[in-house]
Amino acid sequence: AKDAGRNRYRFFEPEMTVATQARMALEVSLRPALARAEFELHYQPRIDLHTMAPVGMEALIRWNHPERGRVPPQQFIAITEETGLIVPIGRWVLQEACMRTRALMADLGRKIVVSVNVSAGQLGNSGFVDEVREALAQTGLPPDCLELELTESALIEDIEHTASMLRELKRVGVALAVDDFGTGASSLAYLRRFPIDVLKLDRSFVLQKDGNVTTSDFVKAFVDLAHALNMAVVAEGVETEEVLQLLRQARCDQAQGYLLAKPMPLDELRARFTQSAPG
Ligand code: C2E
Ligand code: CA
Ligand code: CA
Ligand code: CA
Repeated sequence: AKDAGRNRYRFFEPEMTVATQARMALEVSLRPALARAEFELHYQPRIDLHTMAPVGMEALIRWNHPERGRVPPQQFIAITEETGLIVPIGRWVLQEACMRTRALMADLGRKIVVSVNVSAGQLGNSGFVDEVREALAQTGLPPDCLELELTESALIEDIEHTASMLRELKRVGVALAVDDFGTGASSLAYLRRFPIDVLKLDRSFVLQKDGNVTTSDFVKAFVDLAHALNMAVVAEGVETEEVLQLLRQARCDQAQGYLLAKPMPLDELRARFTQSAPG
C-alpha cells in the first residue's frame, strides 16, 4: 500500500521498456502460482567425499508456468524477493522439503539431510524461526536433518538481527550453511560472528580466471582453516573429474554438481539413495 502513490501511473508510462513489461507479466502470473500448485521441488544429491555415498540433498524450486513452461529460478526468485512473495513461497518450500525428506527417510531407514535455500527477505521476517519450528513439528522431520542455506548478502543485511536469529535457529537444532562462499566480500574471520556449520564453496572458488583449476595447496589451506573453525566444507558446481580429485585431496567434506548428479524429482533420487545404501 505504501507504494501505491509511486506506482499509480506506471501502466501508462510510454517509456516502459520491454524488459519491464516482461517482468511485470511474470509478477502477475507469480501471484496465483502457489495456490495453483505450479511450484515443485527438485533435489540435487550431496556426496560424502570420503565414502562417495550420497548423504544429503539440496531442494531447488521449479516453476511450471502454464503457458511458458519451466521458468528458471534466476528469472523469478528476485521478483518474489522484491514483492514479498518469497515469504509464502519460502514457507511452502520449507514445508514441502521437510515433508518429502521425512517420507524418504522412512522409506530408506536412514538419515538424510535436506538443505533449503533461504532468502534475505525470509530472514528479515520476524516469524521465520516459528515457521521453521512449525515445519519440523508438522512433518516430524528431526531438526538435525534440516540445513538452511543463507547467502553472504543476507547475513550482512542487518548483522545484529541476523546473528540473534541464527542463534535462535541453532537452539531449534537445525544446521546453518553459507551459500555461494567466495563470490561475496566476506572472509572466514568475518563469518565467525555467526554460528555457521557449513561453508558451501561456489563453483568459481576452485577455478581461476583463465578457467584452469587452482592449486590444491590453496584449497587445502582453506579447508584446514574452515575445519579449525568447526565448519564443514561443501563444494558445489563440480563438473569435472579434475576438480573432484582436487577437492578430495584437499580433504573437502562433501560435493555436489553435474558430474555427480543433476537436480531431479524426488522419485528419481530415491532410486540413487537406495542403490548406494551401505550394506
Ligand atoms: P544456488 O543455491 O547456488 O543453487 C545451485 C544452482 O547451481 C542450482 O541452480 C543448480 O541446479 C545449479 N547447479 C548444480 N550443479 C551444477 C554444476 O555442476 N554446474 C553448474 N553450472 N550449475 C550447477 P538452480 O536450481 O537454477 O537455482 C538457481 C538459484 O535459485 C539457486 O542458486 C538459489 O539461489 C535460487 N533458488 C533455488 N531454489 C530456491 C528456493 O527454494 N528458495 C530460494 N530462496 N532460492 C532458491
Ligand atoms: Ca543453495
Ligand atoms: Ca550456491
Ligand atoms: Ca548461486
